[in-house]
Parts: sequence; C-alpha cells; structure tokens
Amino acid sequence: MVHYLIMKISFNKPYLSGKEAHYIFQAVYDNHHISGNGVFTKKCQHFFEQKYGFLKTLLTTSCTDALEMAAILANITQGDEVIIPSYTFVSTANAFVRQGAKIIFADSQSDNPNLDVEKIEALISSKTKAIVPVHYAGMACDMDKIMQLAQKYNLLVIEDAAQAIDSFYYDKPLGSIGHLAAFSFHETKNIQAGEGGLLAINDERFVKRAEIIWEKGTNRAEFFRGEVNKYGWVDVGSSFLPSDMIAAFLYAQLENLENIQTKRKKIWHEYYKKLKPLEENGLLKLPKIPEYASNNAHMFYIICRNADERSGLINHLNTNGIKAVFHYISLHKSHFYKEKHGERTLEMADFYSDTLVRLPFYFELSSFDIERISNEIANFYK
Ligand SMILES: *Cc1c(COP(=O)(O)O)cnc(C)c1O
Repeated sequence: MVHYLIMKISFNKPYLSGKEAHYIFQAVYDNHHISGNGVFTKKCQHFFEQKYGFLKTLLTTSCTDALEMAAILANITQGDEVIIPSYTFVSTANAFVRQGAKIIFADSQSDNPNLDVEKIEALISSKTKAIVPVHYAGMACDMDKIMQLAQKYNLLVIEDAAQAIDSFYYDKPLGSIGHLAAFSFHETKNIQAGEGGLLAINDERFVKRAEIIWEKGTNRAEFFRGEVNKYGWVDVGSSFLPSDMIAAFLYAQLENLENIQTKRKKIWHEYYKKLKPLEENGLLKLPKIPEYASNNAHMFYIICRNADERSGLINHLNTNGIKAVFHYISLHKSHFYKEKHGERTLEMADFYSDTLVRLPFYFELSSFDIERISNEIANFYK
C-alpha cells in the first residue's frame, strides 16, 4: 500500500532572489552606510522613478508609513473628511484618523471590491480634503473619474497602491496618477523586504516637504546635497526612512521584477483556467478585471455565494492541508469605527467581507499545487 504524505500548502511564501544577503553584506561591509538614505536606498528610488515615471520617490519602513506621510503632506487636520473604501486594510484609514480626519467610507463596486466611483460624489462635502482609492488585488480603480471629481472639488488623490506594483490604468502605471501614492513591500506583496514601503510624489508642490518629513522634520537631505550649510528642525516629521540594509534586500528583488511578474501571471492564469468551469456552473465567481485595468497577479481570489458557504470552503481546504483565507472586515463595521460611522449601509463592502476567499499565491507555487487546490475546491462543491 502506498502512503501519500500530504504536503501542506501555505498561503504565502515570501519570494527570495538569492542575492539579498549579498547586497546587505555590501551595504554593511563595503559601503559602510547602514542607516537610511544610503547607496541602495538611492538605487531603489531611482529604479521606481525611471521605470514608472514617478516624479519623486522615498523609501519608507512600510506602506503604513508612506500613507502617514501622505496624510501629513495633505495637511489633514481635525474635522477634515477623507473618502476611503470600507473594504480595505486598517492603515488606509488609520493614517488619516491620526491627523484628526473623519473617515467617510465608500462602498465597493458590484463586480469587484474597488470603490464604486459612481457613489463618491454624493459623499463629498465642504469638509472633504482627499479621496484615497485602493487598487484591490492590484487592479486599478477607475482613475479618470476619480481625478475628474478631485479637480471639480479641489481634492487631493492619494492612491493606496500597496498591492499595485507594476500594474496599470490603461497605459499609466498605478501610483503615478494621484498626487501621492503609497506602495508596500510587506512579505505578502509581489516584491518584498519583510517590511517596507514607498511614497511616490507626483506633484512638485510636495517634493521638498516630503523629504523633510521623511528625515524627522529636518532639512538633512538638502544639507547632504550641499544645498544648505547647516541643517536643523524646520517642520514636523518622523523617522520614516528604512535602514539601507532593507533597501539592499529590496534591490535584490527589484532586479528580478520581470521574472517575478511573469511567474505570478502564469500562476494566476492557471488558477483561472482550472476554476472557470465552477464559475460557468454558477457555483462561485472569479475576479473580473475591468477593461481599463491590468492584472499584476497580486492575488487570486474567488467570491462565494454567501458567508456560510465561504466558511465551509475555507474549512474544507484547511482540513485538506491548504491554507486559504478571507480578507478584510468592512472598516465601517469595525469595533473602532462603527459608532463614528453611523447607520449608513455599505452593502457591497459587507458582501466582500462575507464571501471573498484568497487562495495560496506565491512564486514557488507549482502547477501541481494549483491542480490540487482547484480539485479540492471542486470536491467541496460536489
Ligand atoms: C499591505 C497593505 C497595506 C499596508 O502595508 P504595510 O507595508 O504592511 O504597512 C495598506 N493597504 C493595503 C491595501 C495593503 O494591502
């Protein structure tokens, strides 16, 4: 009798190119610049500015930090309103709450979890300062419509592009369209540095101040470029810049961006093909990518018909050694914000909170794994 050892399939496995340690070694022992804004930080920032045409980028210790910098740059103060999708990660909202903003939560679209642009205008008031679209699963929000509203009401647009590296709205890179944008290099993202992030600045007005906020409220960066002959405290700020060791690690990933993206897209399409028959039979829904959006293969999600079925499916997969997970719980229903939000219902945000499942997704996931996962999903529906 043959005994099969059923290997567990984890939800995520951080990608490693193999050169991370080598570059960290270089930063530490060759460059002798281990703190922030060193050789590798500049290399990474240069990479992003060249490849995606961002006016200016600053590496941060997380996307959360990049969002916090954006909230400071946007001059968000007590009583200002910021429009944010409810179906998102806490940091999208927290960054603005820390500045005293009231969050006006927007609902998701009926055919994907991104915020529904048709419903934004009704949420704008004389206190609104900014709109923060989140490109869920790396899929673009309808940016032309958002930018038109921003222009009409004189609002800032801050893209939460945490999941949206190397993704596009028509031919425009995500993160290059809003006034500001934040990316994440958390180990669950396509390219990762354990913890890490990037602020992209696309409006000249914010460039100089961003550098100051980044360096604890000092004009240290200008000083090191020889533009001023002493540096000191000139504004609010914090220590938002990562050590150059983090940048060194990240650079090893950036060198492999094409390779990572090619592989991830292959995985995504394999899942799609394998699960399509279940969608055709009306059992579940697969991601629907709008014609204006590219697919950066950040994640593969499916939508169940209801909350019970979703729990059943996740349990079935977990008992068969496959780690699938649900995602956000609508922020307007969170313990922290539900009273501040009030009674206004957000049906689609709640729908995705109840029904969305994320499947294992990482560079090393094999065709065999995808087959096994897809078969287990099909078994559940039998
Ligand atoms: C991952 C993520 C963040 C937070 O990123 P960190 O780098 O962990 O701070 C914020 N928003 C969204 C949409 C995310 O997916």
